[in-house]
Amino acid sequence: MEFRPCLGALYVCSILALGAAPSSAESRPHILLVSIDTLRAQNLGAYGYERNTSPYLDRLFAGGVRFDNARTVTSLTAPALASMLTSLHPHEHGSTRNGLRVRPNLFSFTKSLGRSGYATGAFVGNWTLKDKLSGLAEHFDSYEVLLTRKRWLGLVRGEATADDLVDVSLSWLDDHLEAGDRPFLIWVHMIEPHAPYRLRADYLEQIGVKRAGSVLSARKRYDSEVAYSDARVGRLLDEVFERVPREEVLVVFLADHGESLGEHGYWGHGRHLYEVTLRIPLAFSWPGTIESGVVAAPASIRDLAPTLLSLAGVEPPEFVGGFDWSGVLLRGEPAPAGRVTLHQAHKSAVGPQEEQTRLRARGLLEVGRVAEGRKEIYRVTNARLRVFELEDDPWETGSVSPQDAAPSAELQTWLDLVRRGLVVADDLPPPNLSDEDLDALRALGYLD
Ligand SMILES: [Zn+2]
Repeated sequence: MEFRPCLGALYVCSILALGAAPSSAESRPHILLVSIDTLRAQNLGAYGYERNTSPYLDRLFAGGVRFDNARTVTSLTAPALASMLTSLHPHEHGSTRNGLRVRPNLFSFTKSLGRSGYATGAFVGNWTLKDKLSGLAEHFDSYEVLLTRKRWLGLVRGEATADDLVDVSLSWLDDHLEAGDRPFLIWVHMIEPHAPYRLRADYLEQIGVKRAGSVLSARKRYDSEVAYSDARVGRLLDEVFERVPREEVLVVFLADHGESLGEHGYWGHGRHLYEVTLRIPLAFSWPGTIESGVVAAPASIRDLAPTLLSLAGVEPPEFVGGFDWSGVLLRGEPAPAGRVTLHQAHKSAVGPQEEQTRLRARGLLEVGRVAEGRKEIYRVTNARLRVFELEDDPWETGSVSPQDAAPSAELQTWLDLVRRGLVVADDLPPPNLSDEDLDALRALGYLD
């Protein structure tokens, strides 16, 4: 179990000691990290969904190792992806809500890979990932947020799509390959399944949906967005493999969080810790090096940092959280037994009327803990406890505990730790949101 108090200074100091002594450059893979926003595992074919939403991803997963039981730490974009990069929990890195930046000068696996010789480029399509809102640009050599497209000398403007992200990242890759033979890490984050769910009519036949009327249900529109995104991942990977031999590229795929499609009377993500928003697809594919398989043991979005460093031949620093899956992936070592994962939910985005000094502390909604298939969720705002036996009740339809029961000692310890991390600290950057930012967060459903 990894209860670690937030010691921002420790992480800042520790990166100086890294020094990064990579193994031989020849054996290091290129890394293509692809994430899709708001993509819940339950709506992908490989995870048992009945509609054909993900033919490309299903093939990718079948050729690599797919994690059947992976979860994010929180179901908000910037906070979750900051945890992916740093291995820290949101109350530790500081971005607990969209619009709150991470602490400056944190460790991240991308920075560490950069110091060990990798060229790193991020291409992301979500407004909340803008550097002035997230603070994530310092973790990459090149950080591009693509929100609008300009065509024909700027005369035609529109919302950027996953295709635009693919174009920009391939252009960066071409420049990189022309400049030399350093290994690269490319991160592409596509946003399409995020609300509002648009109808992708070209994919209705593929997912087996007949368009009887002019309006399709939100679930069907969501699935059409998933199918659209799946095809863009396919295009990206196919084009990368035309440029670089497949065996030299480690592909990692995941989502930042899932989506509640009406379950528990809730549409969206962020405010609860139910499985539909916590459970994410996660897979590693590296033909010739990683044998295919499925891992049932619990995994976390925080595991990417130690695992990717190890797979790239860089020793993960001791303070890095998460579990290093490289031994399981490369040598078939057993998965850890009795793994516990910890979670937290916060109000979605910071609003203009909130008291600036209490944005973090006031935002905490829920804490959660999953151990041995048993999940506890404690809602801070009404002191309500819910407990689910996930194997018997994967959709969390009925709590096995009285609502007024006290949280377990372990969950209470976790709650106390999270709360201590939400107090105001000098190294936590204040929000820096313009009216335009607030409008964009409102359009994404993050402001009431
Ligand atoms: Zn997201």
